Amino acid sequence: MMTRRPRLVDRKHADGFPTYTWKTAPDGLSTKDQLKSRGLRPGGPIVAQIKWRSKKRHGNYRHAWLYETDLALPKQPMTPAKWEAVGKALRARRICPECGVEKHYTISTKYKACNECMPPEYAAAA
Ligand SMILES: [Zn+2]
Repeated sequence: MMTRRPRLVDRKHADGFPTYTWKTAPDGLSTKDQLKSRGLRPGGPIVAQIKWRSKKRHGNYRHAWLYETDLALPKQPMTPAKWEAVGKALRARRICPECGVEKHYTISTKYKACNECMPPEYAAAA
């Protein structure tokens, strides 16, 4: 098991940012996770940080960057190009590597063959 030294924050970022403890951060600032839970993403630079002692791992500090909530942007919407990439990936998983036929189901990654190409002994087990 690897032992890690307690880490406050990255040395190069440690100074220059207002630092708050857990739950004392001012209104108007949010962590990435808080923004994410509201369907947002950081839209501005890091403005502050919070640091708190981990209860689980005594002596360790947890740390999160804070962003201005007002500057947050909606999460990247899916673009047509992204949908196309997803569609291609899904389609590729439906094409049998043995016979090259596109099936209406995803090819088994375990047997790497469609139901027709699968050796009978595997088909019985599947
Ligand atoms: Zn096949």
